[in-house]
Amino acid sequence: MKVSFIGLGVMGYPMAGHLVKAGHQVTVYNRTLAKAEKWRTEFNGNFANTPKEAVQDSEIVFVCVGNDDDLRQVMYGETGILAGVKSNTLIVDHTTTSADVAREIYAKAKQQNVSFIDAPVSGGQAGAENGVLTVMVGGDLADYEKAEPIMSAFAKFSKRLGEVGAGQLTKMVNQICIAGVVQGLAEGLHFARSAGLDGPEVIETISKGAAGSWQMENRNQTMWQGEYEHGFAIDWMRKDLGIALDEARRNGSHLSLTALVDQFYSEVQALGGNRWDTSGLLARLEKNRK
Ligand code: NAP
Repeated sequence: MKVSFIGLGVMGYPMAGHLVKAGHQVTVYNRTLAKAEKWRTEFNGNFANTPKEAVQDSEIVFVCVGNDDDLRQVMYGETGILAGVKSNTLIVDHTTTSADVAREIYAKAKQQNVSFIDAPVSGGQAGAENGVLTVMVGGDLADYEKAEPIMSAFAKFSKRLGEVGAGQLTKMVNQICIAGVVQGLAEGLHFARSAGLDGPEVIETISKGAAGSWQMENRNQTMWQGEYEHGFAIDWMRKDLGIALDEARRNGSHLSLTALVDQFYSEVQALGGNRWDTSGLLARLEKNRK
């Protein structure tokens, strides 16, 4: 199938590569040209100079940029995706955004007989590189069914959770759940060190019981060593928690812990941790340790 991929960041670069490996004819666009050139050399695909040019012949267009404003920039305007797509094209957005922007683009696309689904992902850089992401989808059922077999090139699981916006709302739940778990793990390790215990031995023991989690399994060792230069950046997490807190104000849910952890992340940013992994919450607790 002829497909396009807009945004070759940490996530998009390998995802677009998996589409080539699955046998699709892929044309990419990336704002920074050097990345598009590197991608073309590595995967033997095509690149275009604008989003409009990249999508002109495609049946499905995948997008993975940063936030709401970035998404609007690649969608709208004279060189944007909506200026280039044929009618009946399906746009699949893997960016983590607000549910509002997903609904806005769905409505604008519909006016020109183009389909849109929101499809944020989880699984991180490793999930993208290994082609084992989880995709949370909102949109029309027929559009999801069209996208699902193509997305399986880079995803191990995808599910449609409702109308447009439902994918982004599900991703918000994902981030809300992670925030509290990481803070709990950070406090546990902080307490273990203060108590003079051997952190790795403690984790080896308690991870087998009810305290175990993905964060504990995958992050405890680097946290104990104070290594945070990897993983999902705190800047991105704060963007995601901000979106979730805005949505909560509208739907009346009470996210006291999420709001608190968001504040803790702002303190880690002040320590220089903008690009650190989200497990950097421990650095805030340990900063005054002699
Ligand atoms: P990234 O490495 O910073 O890449 C962002 C991509 O978007 C780059 O290709 C960038 O182009 C492009 N871009 C940003 N603003 C743009 C604009 N205004 N116009 C055109 N292109 C623009 O980010 P990422 O880690 O791949 O994350 C992408 C999305 O996935 C985010 O919404 C993030 O929250 C979400 N996500 C990330 C992870 C993760 O572990 N990294 C996990 C799950 C979800 P340039 O190359 O020119 O900068």
